[in-house]
Amino acid sequence: MSYQHILVALDLSEECDPVMQRAYALATSSQAKLSLVHIVEPMAMAFGGDVPMDLSTLQQQQFEQARERLDGFARKYPDLSTDRRHLVYGQPRQEIHRLAAEQGCDLIVVGSHGRHGLALLLGSTANDVLHGAPCDVLAVRLKKPE
Ligand code: AMP
Repeated sequence: MSYQHILVALDLSEECDPVMQRAYALATSSQAKLSLVHIVEPMAMAFGGDVPMDLSTLQQQQFEQARERLDGFARKYPDLSTDRRHLVYGQPRQEIHRLAAEQGCDLIVVGSHGRHGLALLLGSTANDVLHGAPCDVLAVRLKKPE
């Protein structure tokens, strides 16, 4: 059984390349569609939801910067169509699950730092995405910086 539609979640950090490369190789070998998603977390969420100021302009800038970075990154893969690049506001786990279900994806690919100890208690997006996922999840192991 091969995958039909793979969704790769990118945090747009410098660690995106191995995650994307794995997803791209899998999509190529299984002749699957490949979609990209980056979630822009609302600033109020980062500040604990209680901010006594209007963040809309800052959020708009944050969204535009993320769009530029996502487009810049996707340019390295010219055969990916622009309608498969998704940029959404929200909470990563929730939005990745929603998009995977909406697009009929059968595999989600995320990066994983293989945390342990205290860092594990703090949680990771890979763990979050695994729980309650609407399809298979592949966690690509990311190396710790030397
Ligand atoms: P983290 O646990 O936050 O270090 O992230 C691990 C992986 O989760 C990343 O390599 C991405 O695959 C995914 N991820 C984290 N944050 C986001 C985000 N804002 N949008 C999309 N994917 C994300």
